[in-house]
Amino acid sequence: MHVTFTDEELAFRDEVRSFFLDELPDDIRNKRMQDVVLDPEDQIRFQKCLFKKGWAGVNWPVEYGGTGWSAVQQYIFATEMAAANAPGIVAFGLNMVGPIVYTFGNEEQKRRFLPDILESNVWWCQGYSEPGSGSDLASLKMRADKVDDHYVINGTKTWTTLGQFADWIFCLVRTSTDVARRQDGISFLLVDMSTPGVSVKPIITLDGDHEVNEVHFEDVEVPIENLVGEEGKGWTYGKVLLQHERTNITGAARSAYRLRRLRVQASKSIRGANPLAEDRNFMRKLAAIEVDLKALEFTDLRTLAAVASGQAPGPESSILKVKGTEIQQMIDLLTMEAAAYYALPYVRDQYVLDFPEIDRIGEGAETKSSLHYFNNRKASIYGGSNEIQKNIIAKHVLGL
Ligand SMILES: Cc1cc2nc3c(=O)[nH]c(=O)nc-3n(C[C@H](O)[C@H](O)[C@H](O)COP(=O)(O)OP(=O)(O)OC[C@H]3O[C@@H](n4cnc5c(N)ncnc54)[C@H](O)[C@@H]3O)c2cc1C
Repeated sequence: MHVTFTDEELAFRDEVRSFFLDELPDDIRNKRMQDVVLDPEDQIRFQKCLFKKGWAGVNWPVEYGGTGWSAVQQYIFATEMAAANAPGIVAFGLNMVGPIVYTFGNEEQKRRFLPDILESNVWWCQGYSEPGSGSDLASLKMRADKVDDHYVINGTKTWTTLGQFADWIFCLVRTSTDVARRQDGISFLLVDMSTPGVSVKPIITLDGDHEVNEVHFEDVEVPIENLVGEEGKGWTYGKVLLQHERTNITGAARSAYRLRRLRVQASKSIRGANPLAEDRNFMRKLAAIEVDLKALEFTDLRTLAAVASGQAPGPESSILKVKGTEIQQMIDLLTMEAAAYYALPYVRDQYVLDFPEIDRIGEGAETKSSLHYFNNRKASIYGGSNEIQKNIIAKHVLGL
């Protein structure tokens, strides 16, 4: 299979390339090159740059302020964004709750929520998982009891990514237990995080970072107008969202960028040692990932084409999620292997003192590579673990 771009698409590619060259703020570019985690303010600033250009709603329809881009344009955009090492988009607003609101929300909800999501004025987080309800999400217990003109919610959400910064959370809640199927008693509710009774507790991950949280809800009153769609239909909406989420996790363009960077790193000699590029075993592993990545890119394009023609990504998104994250984690491993001694996180502190140029060895990623490796073990778990995705592929794609 060979992809050739039309003249218009090539012109579009040049425009996107120039945009990232000219408009990505230098301080953000530098932080990215040094693998420094961005502050929420940096992230918002970057997303507002996209908004100003009219490019925030990459996969949104034009009528809601989106780009209305074709699958190929979206592909080009993702590729150029990764090639410029620009930050990814924080998915919870733009890629998750936004599409749910414009697809299933009422007119008032669209007016109220979509502009702020598009402009990144409001930070969203995702409240699906609960202690004891992850893979078996339909077993979730957080209750929302209707009292007059509001719901009273009680329960706990967990693994809530970046919830410490969030203004709003979208939740799957149980509005009924008196149903034939557990899924039918679940609804999709938008909750203002500043409502009395909401509290956020950090969970510190293996790499020492504070990225995820537990969010507790104690007698939290949520107006009925914050229910999206019909009561009891939240499972259906949530599933659509998960398919979008899985497609977004794939990260093929980002992996291509990281592989190119790894090749540069492997070509350098560190402390007089032979460059890894001369190690056939290492280069064989690198080539194997490149082959897998090429196949993933085409599967990604096929899914994008389905989404661009108005369909949800479908269960095939599970294939993208499994392969995409396996490739990411193989790149993590090889990057750490290539960094060798410098990958040890505790070495860095002393080494930076002795050799302040450490961050400029290779492309600067060596000392962060093990932290990144630990952090990214999450990739095969979140968005539904890879084992669960394989069950979905077996049942809904292969029909087993
Ligand atoms: C870093 C991180 C960020 C996250 N962010 C969010 C977020 O923002 N919002 C949110 O709602 N959730 C979030 N999650 C939660 C994530 O979706 C769940 O962790 C995931 O669905 C797995 O659920 P669990 O952790 O309860 O594990 P379990 O469901 O307890 O699974 C444990 C293990 O058993 C395996 N397993 C379970 N059932 C089966 C089965 N039927 N067949 C085969 N294997 C099985 C799983 O694959 C896994 O390896 C995040 C998770 C992580 C790690």
